[in-house]
Amino acid sequence: GTPLAEADPELFCAVEKELGRQRHQIELIASENIVSRAVLEAQGTVLTNKYAEGYPGKRYYGGCEFVDIAEALAIDRAKRLFDAAFVNVQPHSGAQANGAVMLALLQPHDTILGMDLASGGHLTHGARPALSGKWFNAVQYGVRREDGLIDYDQVQELALQHKPKMIIAGASAYSRVIDFPRFRAIADSVGAILFVDMAHIAGLVATGLHPSPIPHAHVTTTTTHKTLRGPRGGMILTNDPDIAKKINSAVFPGLQGGPLMHVIAAKAVAFGEALRPEFKLYARQVCDNAQALASVMVERGCAIVSGGTDNHLMLVDLRPKGVKGNSTESALERAGITCNKNGVPFDPEKPTVTSGVRLGTPAGTTRGFGVAEFKEIGHLISDVLDGLATNPEGDGQVEEKVKARVAALCERFPIY
Ligand code: PLP
Repeated sequence: GTPLAEADPELFCAVEKELGRQRHQIELIASENIVSRAVLEAQGTVLTNKYAEGYPGKRYYGGCEFVDIAEALAIDRAKRLFDAAFVNVQPHSGAQANGAVMLALLQPHDTILGMDLASGGHLTHGARPALSGKWFNAVQYGVRREDGLIDYDQVQELALQHKPKMIIAGASAYSRVIDFPRFRAIADSVGAILFVDMAHIAGLVATGLHPSPIPHAHVTTTTTHKTLRGPRGGMILTNDPDIAKKINSAVFPGLQGGPLMHVIAAKAVAFGEALRPEFKLYARQVCDNAQALASVMVERGCAIVSGGTDNHLMLVDLRPKGVKGNSTESALERAGITCNKNGVPFDPEKPTVTSGVRLGTPAGTTRGFGVAEFKEIGHLISDVLDGLATNPEGDGQVEEKVKARVAALCERFPIY
């Protein structure tokens, strides 16, 4: 066949530009990573052609013997990685995995208790604009104003008050260890199902750098593309055989049709990588790097929500610098550093403005940055922030200088 570059130059050009962007900028979006060549290759295989509704050995289509091998590998490796009795690797994304859990275990209008978006929770945990907030009676807990930590006493109180059928633990912008045994005790006190969404921290859980939710939760979901460093996708794990059956029916035929076999193949490759000892070193470096970056941000006058980080990310409160999240995101982008604006707990600014940015180290660590590089990145970000504090349009000269240093760092640690 004709190569992509000839068959569709317009599209090919967009892909090339995106490759250039990834090569030449520093990626600090906490939910992103840089997959290996092997993961990329698996996802680009002919497995994309195959319909395989059902599960390995029990398909609704013929010709599934080879994709069955791929899915069985993914399942087996995920089970070993997380020490779980059951895994469903078919969810197309984290949101799909969470939707399947709710479809499996809840009825419409049931009460659920999840972390609110403004405190670092995810849309799928009961936020108003999402299905989880529209089809269920969603009650939300948050973090404490004084220290930015999950308010477990509030979770307990809300649980007693509202008697939720399900309690959801897990977050998109929380930098501290989550106490899963405490969540389970709260769930047990009201007979609720404990559902943990470990999307952000899965790579840390797999390597023992964050306590595992699997022994405590009735059911756990994750994305596969964040700290776990696999292809974009989702997965559901449990040790409960009854829940396992319900999950399988909820994913297919409940919520999805044919699984994305090329993505499942890439998941298998990524889980294989995560089982190797090098991945543990990687995960340790991710955390060390996050602490190094956080310490420079504080040294240079920003605040970190909760005072620091135990994981791969931090929520930087920009208010001490007098700048906003949206203008910071733009200024950093001009300087070659990508991150996202993010509300801080009790943020007085609108979600389109925000008082914070979320920074994460998974992608930078994959390209080889260590503590020294992340300290330098902390200073580069702070230089841009200082420029922004003196001029709301940003200091063009500073941004240019930072951009040159970003380019030098990227050149020393090339990708692809
Ligand atoms: N759960 C959490 C905690 C997340 O942070 C995210 C993604 O940001 C998701 C679920 C949703 O994953 P996806 O974007 O793959 O649907």
